[in-house]
Amino acid sequence: MTSQTLEVIKTTTHKPKPDPEALGFGKYFTDHMLLIDYHSDKGWYHPRIVPYEPLTLDPAAMVFHYGQTVFEGLKAYKDHDENVRLFRPEENMKRLNRSNERLSIPTLDEKETLSYIKELVRLEKDWIPTAAGKSLYIRPFVINTEASLSVAPSKTYTFLVILSPVGSYYSEGIDPVSIFVEDFYTRAAPGGTGYAKTAGNYSAAYKAQERAVEHQRSQVLWLDGLEKKYVEEVGSMNVFFKIDGEIHTPEINGTILEGVTRKSVIELLRSWDLPVHERRIAMDDLIQAHQNGTLEEAFGTGTAAVISPIGILDYKGTEYTINNNKTGDISNRLHNAITGIQTGRLEDPFGWTT
Ligand code: PMP
Repeated sequence: MTSQTLEVIKTTTHKPKPDPEALGFGKYFTDHMLLIDYHSDKGWYHPRIVPYEPLTLDPAAMVFHYGQTVFEGLKAYKDHDENVRLFRPEENMKRLNRSNERLSIPTLDEKETLSYIKELVRLEKDWIPTAAGKSLYIRPFVINTEASLSVAPSKTYTFLVILSPVGSYYSEGIDPVSIFVEDFYTRAAPGGTGYAKTAGNYSAAYKAQERAVEHQRSQVLWLDGLEKKYVEEVGSMNVFFKIDGEIHTPEINGTILEGVTRKSVIELLRSWDLPVHERRIAMDDLIQAHQNGTLEEAFGTGTAAVISPIGILDYKGTEYTINNNKTGDISNRLHNAITGIQTGRLEDPFGWTT
């Protein structure tokens, strides 16, 4: 994509802003959206911000049939001085292109695309909630728009960005969740799409999520797709364990999604001189650590909740309680540090916010 002028068409009818106390997640959308089209003859072209409106697509558009689509998720925050901050958005752009490559979708110019996203967020800055924990969720995505039922990548795609003001994940503090260790359904297999943020990975997870809820657990702990022995992710978060004073997290191996929060947590922990091991973690080793009292903390990490402590693991019918089902020190410290940097409440020694 060569440098192109962003066209901006502003709406004449502004939507009323939702009640900040009733935001939930992804229920309300702002007044404008960003689009960029792709044609194999032209590359990515015609970046534009237009009023938010439904799309018109041919029913044969391939995205509906073969799911050739990828997405991203990041947040904008307002600090005390009303400055708008993004948290490591370059990482999301890199991951978007990793997903694009895996799904045979043409890659985007990361810098230029991010500059358009910033323009959109700037235009919609009055939609950014300011109360603690609330933010503006940014959802970039790409769809295959070509009308054809032939099973092959197409000539035309559209990249879009929509924005949604979202509430805080926890009403006060951060509370541990109980987790069902899923030993039938798997999320990803070697050589598959686990590391890409693509629709099918998420819809295929609903079935396991239903099973977790049937067991009165709030989310799923995913095991590896080959042997169902090794821990991969928790819900749509990366997962960490504190064992005997040191931190362990599954290594990046092609089947797990490389979270921006995961990366930040590892960098923070190392800056606090805490050892972090990125390795294969067997479920049996966790059970053993639990039995000898060295499994001290467990938590998930992701953009939505930032840090989500795990209080209970339900594995093959046995309940394992971690840290008395209380939020651990590391979880609290990480949550405070990351949300502090994101919102400008704390200094940003890493230069993570833009
Ligand atoms: N794993 C999966 C499967 C996810 O969907 C997400 C959310 N993007 C994460 C992990 C966490 O990634 P991040 O920290 O970038 O939100």
